[in-house]
Amino acid sequence: AAKVAGRGRATEFQPEMKQAFLDRHRLQNDLRGAVERGEHRLQFQPIVDLQADRTLGFEALVRWDHPELGPVPPSRFIPLAEESGLILDLGRWVLREAISTARLWSEDVFIAVNISARQLTDADLVPFISATLADLGVPPRRLEIEITETALVDNDAIAIRTLRALRDLGCRIALDDFGTGYASLSYLQRFHFDKLKIDRSFVESCRVDENSSAIIAAVCALARRLRLSVVAEGIETADHRVFVAEVGCGLGQGYLFDRPLTQGEALERLAREANLTQAPTSANTSAI
Ligand code: C2E
Ligand code: MG
Ligand code: MG
Ligand code: MG
Repeated sequence: AAKVAGRGRATEFQPEMKQAFLDRHRLQNDLRGAVERGEHRLQFQPIVDLQADRTLGFEALVRWDHPELGPVPPSRFIPLAEESGLILDLGRWVLREAISTARLWSEDVFIAVNISARQLTDADLVPFISATLADLGVPPRRLEIEITETALVDNDAIAIRTLRALRDLGCRIALDDFGTGYASLSYLQRFHFDKLKIDRSFVESCRVDENSSAIIAAVCALARRLRLSVVAEGIETADHRVFVAEVGCGLGQGYLFDRPLTQGEALERLAREANLTQAPTSANTSAI
């Protein structure tokens, strides 16, 4: 009976696995052409000062609209791009597009860009960033580089050297998805980040899970001691916002403020805020 069940299961799952394999290969193949044809675009999600209720910057998030399959999420294609090395071309496109978008904003608004492990070991990364910033006339301090802990695991000596070079250039460095990697604290010891981004998984459950709330509070206390700023990711409700602000988190990002926006929508958001500042008596002040 076991054998029959086993065989039954094999025939049941095989086509699915085959399909998954084909999809993966298809995406992998299509990705190269997609980068060349410019099928990617960026969205921009605001990062907000929780006290002042103001947009301090935006995180650039890459999108891929596959001509036949429709939107493919970055969680699917970024790993494929890393495997094939195509992340180097895609990453350069993202950087240039993100930095040119930042030119449309006022001087004090930053742009955050996600950089993957493979890019950190590319000897051309720092010269490319430096040249692109100079070419587009954007000061390095307006560019924030987001690195996940997992990006540091494999090649940490080279990765940390790259981060130092970016820091020397004047860019800010943020540790993304903080708390989900293997050695969060040891990276804090080895490199002085400017910012920690507390992973969404902690924020999501902060009101219902005492462990999550304790972790967020402790990370905020730690960050204060290390003089780092902290962003809570994935703030979806006013409850989340109040909790993270109470325990000392200065910045927030999440659907409560805005979903990732188009370039035009990001500009509109900044214009709206500028108008509110100019006309503080306006009836529609959106303070929560
Ligand atoms: P991340 O850097 O941690 O980006 C935050 C992710 O959380 C984004 O997902 C964003 O859309 C999502 N998010 C923001 N607020 C909320 C919220 O309130 N609730 C929920 N449920 N989600 C929220 P996205 O755009 O799908 O990106 C996923 C990951 O893909 C990013 O995580 C980042 O690691 C990677 N990624 C995105 N763009 C790039 C890129 O240009 N280069 C590289 N190397 N990786 C990228
Ligand atoms: Mg990020
Ligand atoms: Mg994150
Ligand atoms: Mg993430």
